[in-house]
Parts: sequence; structure tokens; C-alpha cells
Amino acid sequence: MSQPSTQMEQFRSWLAERGLKVTRQREAIAEVFFGSGGHLSLEELLELAKEQQPSVGYATVYRTMKILAESGLASEHKFAEGNVRYEPSVEGEHHDHLICVTCGKILEYEDERVERLQEEVARKHGLRVVSHRHEIYGECVRPACPDRPPGRHANGD
Ligand SMILES: [Zn+2]
Ligand SMILES: [Zn+2]
Repeated sequence: MSQPSTQMEQFRSWLAERGLKVTRQREAIAEVFFGSGGHLSLEELLELAKEQQPSVGYATVYRTMKILAESGLASEHKFAEGNVRYEPSVEGEHHDHLICVTCGKILEYEDERVERLQEEVARKHGLRVVSHRHEIYGECVRPACPDRPPGRHANGD
């Protein structure tokens, strides 16, 4: 679960420890980011941050998100569509993603069996798992994908 205020405090102290400035722009970006459901691109974060702080520019969003990723408070994902997307990362929490290739919707899942199975697969190949990333690409069926052209079915024909 996200705890925006605690995350903001962690962000502020991370900046302070490194002698980096806590600017209103950086704060607005971090607040919007921690308050979001995640998976946002830089462009989307810029739009949202501008509502709080109109002076925010793209370069500041870019740098702030790099800082957040470096601090471990954000994780970067590059899905097949190509945009880098950011989501808050919480220590000890893990999930994987399902992505609709038609409308771009991103869903999250956690499945013990998948986690266990990949440990097993890695072990068989002589690898100890340090981290992993699963992305399942498909087309949403329920509710029907808003972007699917009429007459086209989810089974691909
Ligand atoms: Zn996610
Ligand atoms: Zn869809």
C-alpha cells in the first residue's frame, strides 16, 4: 500500500543527505507520483505535476524521476510500447504486469505459484534468483477493450 506522506519524508531526507535541494517543483512531482496508481510516463507525470505547480518542466520531471529511481522509491519499467513508466516501489512488495497491446492498459498480478515455479526453473539451470520481471502481453477481453476495432475478436482473427 502506498503511504504518500512517509514516502515524501523519505524522499526529502534522501535529498538532504546528499545535499540536493528540495524544490517546490521536485516536491510537486514526487507528491503526484506517490499519490498515483503508478505506471505513469514522464509526459503523464508532467501533466499531473503542472496542475500542482505550473512552473514544472519536462527536464525537472526527468531528473526528479531519475533521483527517485536512484533512491529506490521508484522503479522504472520499459514495456513494449517503448515509454519508460514509473511506479512507487515499496520494500518487500513485488508484483508483475499484464499489458493490453491494444489500449495500453496495465494491470498488476501476484501469484505464488508463478513465483515458486520460476525459482524452480532458475534452480534447475543453476541460477539463484536475484530479481525477475514478468510481462504478459494480450488484449483485454473483460471488459471489452475500448480500443479494439469493431468485429475483431480477442482470439486474434
Ligand atoms: Zn506495477
Ligand atoms: Zn485493451
